[in-house]
Amino acid sequence: MSAGGIGGAGAPGEAAGGAERRERIRANLAALRRRVDAACAAVGRSPQEVTIIAVTKTFPASDVRILAELGITDVGENRDQEAAPKAAECADLGLRWHFVGQLQTNKARSVARYADVVHSVDRTRLAAALGARARAEGREVGCLVQVNLDPDSAAGVLGLRGGADPRDVLAVADAVAAEDGLALGGVMAVAPRGGDPAEAFARLNAVAAEVRDRYPQAVAVSAGMSGDLEAAVGQGATHLRVGTALLDDRGPNVG
Ligand SMILES: *Cc1c(COP(=O)(O)O)cnc(C)c1O
Repeated sequence: MSAGGIGGAGAPGEAAGGAERRERIRANLAALRRRVDAACAAVGRSPQEVTIIAVTKTFPASDVRILAELGITDVGENRDQEAAPKAAECADLGLRWHFVGQLQTNKARSVARYADVVHSVDRTRLAAALGARARAEGREVGCLVQVNLDPDSAAGVLGLRGGADPRDVLAVADAVAAEDGLALGGVMAVAPRGGDPAEAFARLNAVAAEVRDRYPQAVAVSAGMSGDLEAAVGQGATHLRVGTALLDDRGPNVG
């Protein structure tokens, strides 16, 4: 399909590649929505219950803009150094920004400025730091407790995927709930490499139920990426974090 000659909807000076990129992302999003619809149908859920978070790490702000034009309302990033300037550049789009990466306590100040939801709260000290920074900014930051689903590794070892030990999740949830400026939203996890994601997400679902018993408002279950979103939908995910399936390969992942 040629984009030439008609003037198009692109910004003045938009590179010729802009229309192609937009068409590519539009097709990817359509395919993704079909996958989510099918996964929901298979387990009798409504696609309305599932929010797609477009993970835009390593991709430029111009892709975020395309996603917003295509109806995406939620975007995710995993490194503060990249996320902070991108969120600033896209401030006019009215998007919800999700921070999904490992978070050092000393980055809490920066992240609290732009993140609407932090998915990676996995220790009480981080909850305290985020709470202090959210109050200083006069913002409310949503927080999900990240759960380590890898039974073979202590949190932070080897995979660096982070997450609280399932036995510590309620204590971290208590710490979030105790902080003015933070809103406990639920739980998040990444399926361990190599295992059965459905089995791992079933364990996450059980932890999510424990958290909801104590905090009924904490209904979010952030689980599922490009490769395992069907398994996540089958185990009650409310938020999918999707990068590759929307934006194609990003090359070696530095996150
Ligand atoms: C990169 C990333 C994703 C998206 O992964 P894809 O396989 O590209 O869909 C989801 N969650 C986290 C925490 C990530 O870092």
